[in-house]
Amino acid sequence: MELKPEDFENLDKLGEGAAGTVRKVLHKPSGLIMAKKSITADPDPAIQRQILRELAFLKTCNSPHIVSFFGVFLDDGDTTIAICMEYCEAGSLEDIYKRARDLGGVIGEPVLERVAESVCKGLVYLHSKHVIHRDIKPSNILVTKKGEVKLCDLGVSGELINSLAQTFTGTKYYMAPERIQGAPYSVQSDIWSLGLTIIEVSQNRPALPPPGQPHLSIFELLDFIVHQPVPTLTSEHISKECKNFVSVCLTKDPRSRPGPQRMLQHPFIRMWENVEIDLSSWIKEVWNWT
Ligand code: ADP
Ligand code: MG
Repeated sequence: MELKPEDFENLDKLGEGAAGTVRKVLHKPSGLIMAKKSITADPDPAIQRQILRELAFLKTCNSPHIVSFFGVFLDDGDTTIAICMEYCEAGSLEDIYKRARDLGGVIGEPVLERVAESVCKGLVYLHSKHVIHRDIKPSNILVTKKGEVKLCDLGVSGELINSLAQTFTGTKYYMAPERIQGAPYSVQSDIWSLGLTIIEVSQNRPALPPPGQPHLSIFELLDFIVHQPVPTLTSEHISKECKNFVSVCLTKDPRSRPGPQRMLQHPFIRMWENVEIDLSSWIKEVWNWT
């Protein structure tokens, strides 16, 4: 079905990032609730068309670990690009760990394992389609009310990446050392970002900047990532397998850092293999749903 601006009714605002606003919307013709991300568009119609063409690739992505895509169109009198995707009721891992922090708790190891496993499976799927995610971080990992963990905001449009890079300076905290040194993106760079994501989610605060040096300039931060020891998971209640998984993700040399397929063979993933983990009950507790 083709999506048109006039077919939508705005419901709640879900969040705001550097590049756009995300709203919960009702698609009136189908009765479906969706999440609509609006990004300020480049005014050049040729560039707009190219971005729409590239984003249409998302229609071919079909995986339980990737947020479903409904369509993309020009909105607000052709000034924004609207991307319509599956609405994930439980929000992002960032929303969830901040909530856990407010409740005075932490996210436990079984949940960390399901997150690590789902992200790796999502990356394996994307890799099979020759796509690198490029922006793995807690706010781009979403959770549904059934407790499914899914990736969103895939880097599929080179033209959109270019046009955003000209206007916005996104966060650099999750950038792998080889990227800082000018190497091209690879699936291994996404694994680095996964390591930082697991530390952040388990400790209720970002792994970088390092706790002792909160005021690093961007230059100092990038230098820190390349030259200083990598962050580690220190919590007492975390197994050595989980800590090792994180340190393997944070291997500085990308040639020695495994891709997602090999990370799925890691003892941390293996040790929870036959254990049932009820994420849907967990998420109900987190958000106090009855
Ligand atoms: P960022 O990822 O940098 O936080 P975004 O604009 O991509 O910025 O997203 C802002 C927020 O909107 C996210 O942190 C999340 O809470 C929410 N969000 C994004 N996509 C969805 C979705 N499909 N379902 C539910 N919430 C979403
Ligand atoms: Mg995002």
